[in-house]
Amino acid sequence: MGGVTATGTKLTRPRSAGAWAAPAQARVKRIRDRLREVYGVPLMAPHEHPIAELILTVLSQSTNDRNRDVAFLRLRTAMPTWEQVRDAPLGQVEEAIRPGGISKVKSARIQAILRAISDDAREPGREPGRLSLDWLPRVELAEAREYLLTLPGVGRKTAACVLLFAYGLRDVPVDTHVSRVGGRLGLLRGGAPFEELHDAMLALTPPRGELELHVNLLRHGRRTCHARRPACRECALARMCPSRRLFD
Ligand code: SF4
Repeated sequence: MGGVTATGTKLTRPRSAGAWAAPAQARVKRIRDRLREVYGVPLMAPHEHPIAELILTVLSQSTNDRNRDVAFLRLRTAMPTWEQVRDAPLGQVEEAIRPGGISKVKSARIQAILRAISDDAREPGREPGRLSLDWLPRVELAEAREYLLTLPGVGRKTAACVLLFAYGLRDVPVDTHVSRVGGRLGLLRGGAPFEELHDAMLALTPPRGELELHVNLLRHGRRTCHARRPACRECALARMCPSRRLFD
């Protein structure tokens, strides 16, 4: 099995390279079902706030969820509209998000993203200066993704977060946990660049299973399949994991 994805990434390597091959759908389903037994099916309705999701994702870089959320709340309290955040002196934004770390870089990135959204005249009838990405779910998914990737510093993971969490569209963010667990389970090619990992995750994820597979792989990475010392002896997926022996 294998082939080329919609975005052109080749997903398989010749077996003679002694390497990875894309998993069969039946195997993906077995893993999905086992994760479901352990973690359940996540229930998160799309929140329809794409700009908030973008900013949250910028704030999440190099920090934990708690600090990210504190920074986000402080920003929203200090400047309740995204237009205010865009137009504020940089130092005020930096101060508001300080608890999230590397606030100098993040504040500049946030304002650059908001300005780029302002410059886009795609939404007919939009008030000049008003920020909106409400048109995203009304265009083809590939167009929406491509647009997000033109925003400053926005890569595949951030674009996928916006498409999936804001609108429930078909994309799967591959963060460090998902790539590590997916690689160990043989779902993803270990060491592959993130562009390829995103294409591969999309190709293997059953339609309408995007949120579930993302969230449950992430939970498994946080709770059991740790980066340094995965708890293989307690792992519910141990019998189907080709990497288990590496850590015994
Ligand atoms: S068996 Fe070990 S390496 Fe494999 S998924 Fe479980 S914790 Fe991770």
